[in-house]
Amino acid sequence: MVNKVSEKSNVRANVKVEDVKLYINGEFVQSESRTTFANMSPFTNEQINNIAEGREEDINKAVKAANNAFKNTWSTMKISERMKYINRIADVIDEEVEEIAILEAIDTGLPISQTRKMVSRAATNFRFYAKMVESKLHGEAYQVDDEFINYTIYKPLGVVGLITPWNAPFMLETWKVAPALATGNTVVLKPAELSPLTANKLAEVIHKAGLPKGVFNIVHGFGETAGASLVAHPDVEAISFTGETTTGSIIIKNAADTLKKTSMELGGKSPLIVFDDADLDRALDAAVWGIFSFNGERCTANSRVFLHKNIKHQFVEALKERVSNIKIGDPMDPSTQLGPLIEKGHYNKVKEYIEIAKQEGCEVIQGVIPEEFKAGNYVPPTLLLKATNDMKVCQEEIFGPVMAVIEFETEEEVVAAANDVKYGLAGYVWTNDIKRGHRVAQAVEAGMLWINSQNTRDLRIPFGGTKASGIGREGGHYAIFEFYTEPKVIHVAIGDHHIPQFGKKK
Ligand code: NAD
Repeated sequence: MVNKVSEKSNVRANVKVEDVKLYINGEFVQSESRTTFANMSPFTNEQINNIAEGREEDINKAVKAANNAFKNTWSTMKISERMKYINRIADVIDEEVEEIAILEAIDTGLPISQTRKMVSRAATNFRFYAKMVESKLHGEAYQVDDEFINYTIYKPLGVVGLITPWNAPFMLETWKVAPALATGNTVVLKPAELSPLTANKLAEVIHKAGLPKGVFNIVHGFGETAGASLVAHPDVEAISFTGETTTGSIIIKNAADTLKKTSMELGGKSPLIVFDDADLDRALDAAVWGIFSFNGERCTANSRVFLHKNIKHQFVEALKERVSNIKIGDPMDPSTQLGPLIEKGHYNKVKEYIEIAKQEGCEVIQGVIPEEFKAGNYVPPTLLLKATNDMKVCQEEIFGPVMAVIEFETEEEVVAAANDVKYGLAGYVWTNDIKRGHRVAQAVEAGMLWINSQNTRDLRIPFGGTKASGIGREGGHYAIFEFYTEPKVIHVAIGDHHIPQFGKKK
């Protein structure tokens, strides 16, 4: 999709991005309506390319292809054969890591140093699920006396619809695609309209890996049309969704009409709590990375930082210094730490929140955007000092490089404040008191808590949130047992157990 580029130079000038089509039944095709939409650069706000706009009729075609593939090839194939395909996808991703990382940076504004790491993890997702399905996807068996055996097997659901967001798009798509395909489902993916390039690349990868036609399909387009049609389709058995909480709630309502299973990975407003006995240098690194990496467009971002009053002053001074030194730059430059936000509308929303913070009484400290980058959607790294947890900017997800700093005095007070929010995705606790670390981690209402740590995660561990941050978990065996398969129970007689003889003459 892009021509060869040199590692060192600013690669944008060398990259030519072609127009993107839908991928249905093993072919790259125009949408039925022949309409397209413009894909814009976060860096320049100029058009990158055209994207085929899928609608209901394209979703219907894709679901039909996926249904055929499910019945005739994918679900009936030997598991060992299926896993060869899954591992081949990982191999092709590895071969094309650099190109995918470049496309991701062009499309999203995420710094190339960060997209490179995410793309490599995408290959790992496929290898991980190939191994896990082969070794772990087994049921239970119970022999009851000498009379019968009950056993379970785990069956794929059928066609699953995957709807994904624009932040870290390639990695998040593969979080869903890998377990869905490995367990024997076929897929229709509706990627975010703001980040279609690497979704298209995933179709190219899967095409190159030689998967049977119809097993994996992509319909680009908008949420209210393509996305909603996928949710409404009667032949789609389940929807796995990652995105905003408000969208998740609309999808659950619409999926109810056809009684679909849904999985929801939604927004967050995660707390990072620093006690006065913490390793402050490491806590500082983690707090800065946790909100300013991925341009702050990160679901697990520590957007609320609670500082104990004894260390607040020194921590804030260190934060100010870091914010002024964060390298704002071209996403293609390997030394860039913060790039432009995904699109103008989102940029305006984040800027608006910063204005609201001022009105609410926060002191706003920001880095400086170099003049040469003024055309892009750059929001500088921003600290909201003197924040209190009840402020709008501490209650709502901003999804940008904006950290609210809140002072606390007691453990009880900080736990109550951390929990006084509708979200419950992640949380971070920094303390060298091991008892307190566990106590606070257990008390903070979130699906994932890190003690003296930052967003590290083994793929075997569940990922997901509680409260308004989600329903269900992705990752590990949770994805394969709790979402992409369902147990089927088989009862078999091995003796002549008693059967009541209704109507039989004595
Ligand atoms: P979004 O909800 O606007 O869009 C997500 C996807 O849903 C897109 O593909 C969109 O086209 C589609 N969509 C929109 N309306 C729809 C409808 N009515 N029916 C079907 N599909 C529809 O989210 P976004 O702005 O792309 O992503 C950012 C959000 O995602 C943030 O809130 C972030 O916290 C969240 N997120 C959560 C996780 C997690 O694991 N919990 C991970 C990443 C991002």
